[in-house]
This record gives sequence, structure tokens and C-alpha cells, in this order.
Amino acid sequence: NLILAIESSCDETAAAVVEDGCKICSNIVSSQINVHKKYGGVVPEVASRIHVENISVVIEEALAQAEVTMDDILAIAVTQGPGLVGSLHVGVQAAKTLAWYYDKPLIPLHHIIGHIYANRFVDELRFPMIALVVSGGHTELVWMKDEWSFEILGTTQDDAIGEAYDKVSRVMGTGYPGGPVIDKMAKQGHPHYTLPKPKTEKPLDFSFSGLKSAVLQLIDRENKKGEELNKEDLSYAFQEAALDTLLKKTMQAVKEFKPKQVVLAGGVAANSRLREKISEMIQETPEVHLTIPPLWCCTDNAAMIGAAGWTAYTHGLNGSLDIAANPSMEIETSSIH
Ligand code: ATP
Ligand code: MG
Ligand code: FE
Repeated sequence: NLILAIESSCDETAAAVVEDGCKICSNIVSSQINVHKKYGGVVPEVASRIHVENISVVIEEALAQAEVTMDDILAIAVTQGPGLVGSLHVGVQAAKTLAWYYDKPLIPLHHIIGHIYANRFVDELRFPMIALVVSGGHTELVWMKDEWSFEILGTTQDDAIGEAYDKVSRVMGTGYPGGPVIDKMAKQGHPHYTLPKPKTEKPLDFSFSGLKSAVLQLIDRENKKGEELNKEDLSYAFQEAALDTLLKKTMQAVKEFKPKQVVLAGGVAANSRLREKISEMIQETPEVHLTIPPLWCCTDNAAMIGAAGWTAYTHGLNGSLDIAANPSMEIETSSIH
């Protein structure tokens, strides 16, 4: 029961072979970070070109490392959206070509469903479930009343949390991607700067642009005063403010909706402080089971697409060969319940 999975929604060209939705046979990720670093963020045109150069190699490598051929593959799963259209297009075309040539079912998937099903590598999923999705493009509380059922309880009104990490790092001059750098610097930081806690109209929504502006203003103020900016302390203050509302709202949703399980999902799920704090916090509700994806599958990879692809396959959710990349795909439209 092998799924070949392909992911190219942003700046990782990735392919994986996954067995029964939870066992990794291979997981190849070719990251473009070193290229985009120079520009302080992902440059879409450059990203699609590098995907084109790498996609075949990455797929061949995934098959080779798994020691299988296309004949052993049951179905091909691919990220259809959301993401950068040019990037998505490369993965979708590769998947369609292989599905047509080898006569295999094609399974188009929503990228965030992949992030959520990354948790399958360490645990079962129990429903109803709440997924706290925290990534470069998304900050959402997703309610899954059953398998493959998705309802957004709350979302960001402006920036995604990962985007905020990246922007704050850029203005501090500490590079791209910002998340891992700020995570590390904050460990050396102390409570020194005060930043406002984000506010939103809807109780389960998020907002990070105010916090980002507050960081910019603070840096400006320190500069004008001629004070040296303490980047560790600023990282600490930013991270505590960002995670505080994230966790408060998650707990509020848990109390209101009473899920059996809470899972973390997305690149920011790699954050050490978030992992620590959510584990502490969930102890207030011992009836709720918490699952955190392993570090290796928090940021973009194809294994997570294979995990989700297996579930989709078992539900008969095959796509047709005329699917196209969908950069603004919505998670709720994937629901079958
Ligand atoms: P999306 O999944 O919404 O389409 P994406 O695929 O670009 O966005 P991911 O790969 O899921 O994003 O996550 C990348 C983001 O995760 C970046 O913003 C990065 O800064 C952030 N990130 C990675 N590691 C950490 C960390 N340790 N702490 C905080 N943020 C992190
Ligand atoms: Mg990325
Ligand atoms: Fe992602």
C-alpha cells in the first residue's frame, strides 16, 4: 500500500514514498532556502524555475531510496493548493504525467491537510479533533468533527504567525527564515521590552500585524535613543506575545468545543517554546489528548502529503487527470462529512 507523494507549493521540492499512511519509506526534500535567503524571502519566479530543475531528480531519489519502482506504487498524491501558482504547477504536472503514463489514481490534496496528517507518523487521530495550524501562510483553528471533515473556527485577520516571525527577523537583520532564529535567540532573552497583546473582534480569530508594527516602532525608538537593540530580549518579547494569544484562543476553543484530541500542524509547530507551552497548558484538560508532530515533518515535506493521501485514497477521493493547480484552494471544500 504505497503512496508516492509530491509537494512543491512554496520553496521546497519534495517527494516521498509512504506505506499505509504512517510509515516512511523515503522522504526527499530539496530546499531552496539558500537561494531565497539572499532576497530575504521567497521569490516566486525563482522558486518555480528551481522546482522545474529539481522535480524529476527528487521523485527518482524518493523511489530509489524506498527501493521501489512505479509498478509498486498504488496511487500518486500531490499538493494541489494553496501556495504559489508557478510552484504548485510543477508538482501537479509531474503527478499528472506519472498518473497518466503509469495508469495510477491521482489524489489532489490541500497542503494544510498534509500538515495536519503529519501527526499520523506518531499517533492515531481521534475525532472530534481541533488542529492548531501555524505556518508561513496560515494561522487557523480547524475543527474536524470526523475524519476528512474541516471547519475553520478561527483564522488570522492579517498576517500568518510564521510570516510575522519572518518579518520580525528581517527587520532585526537576522535573516530568513526567521522562525528558527527567533526560537533560538529567545532562549537567551529576558523580559525587558513590552509589546502589546494582539486584539481581535472575533474571539477565536488571530492578528499579528499590530504586533509586527509594534516591533518596528520599538526598533525605531531604540535607534533614535542611540540604544543598542538587544535582539535576544526582543525575540523573547515578540515570541511570548505571539504565543500567548495563540494558546489562550486554542484553550478557549477546547473548552467550547470539547474535542477528544488537539494536534499542532505547520512549520511553526517546530517552535520549541510553543511545544513546551501547549504541553503544559493541555494538562488543564486531562480528557483531551495532545499530539505534536515530530520536528522533521513540521515544515514542508512530501511525507505528510503521503500520510493524508492514504486517507484520501481509502475514502475514494481520487481526482481526474484534468485537475489544475489551485493557489487559493480552501480547506473546507475538501470535506466529505
Ligand atoms: P503554508 O503551510 O501556510 O502554505 P509554508 O508552507 O510556506 O506556509 P511552512 O513550511 O509550513 O510554511 O512553515 C514555514 C514557516 O515556519 C516559516 O515562516 C518559518 O519561519 C516557520 N518556522 C520554522 N521553524 C520555526 C520555529 N522553530 N519557530 C517558529 N517558526 C518556525
Ligand atoms: Mg518553505
Ligand atoms: Fe506548509
